[in-house]
Amino acid sequence: MPQYSYLLLREHTRVCEQELVGALVTLDVAGVTGYTAAFERFKKAVTEWVVESDEGRELWFTSANDLNIGDLLTYGVIDNEVFKIYMRKHGVTVKMAHSLTGDQRRSFDEQLVDGKEVVCDDCNGEVDVSEAHFEDAAWHCGCR
Ligand SMILES: [Zn+2]
Repeated sequence: MPQYSYLLLREHTRVCEQELVGALVTLDVAGVTGYTAAFERFKKAVTEWVVESDEGRELWFTSANDLNIGDLLTYGVIDNEVFKIYMRKHGVTVKMAHSLTGDQRRSFDEQLVDGKEVVCDDCNGEVDVSEAHFEDAAWHCGCR
């Protein structure tokens, strides 16, 4: 079954709401192809859950008619049995949904390498990018 992952980011973070900045959602969706179609199917299933179930209708009003992924996460809806029935009916499995809070929040531009560990194979000194060169099957600084 095709699997689609989405990163839902809050565009404008209001004061006091900074702990929920985004969500990572992965959907398994039967019978549709493509990210747009898969997400539209998910929204259709959520809408039907709101229209037809008591829990759905209650959360819709709780959210002041503005139900987003944060509401599903905050109220643990993903694990709700009735919610799952509506998802299954539309061939949707919400595999994973995380609120990105605290330590989960990382910058896309975060440096992944400790540059101090990357040293010259000859002298063990720090390698200046402008002098780094590959020679005799090893990396060297300006020492060679
Ligand atoms: Zn060196």
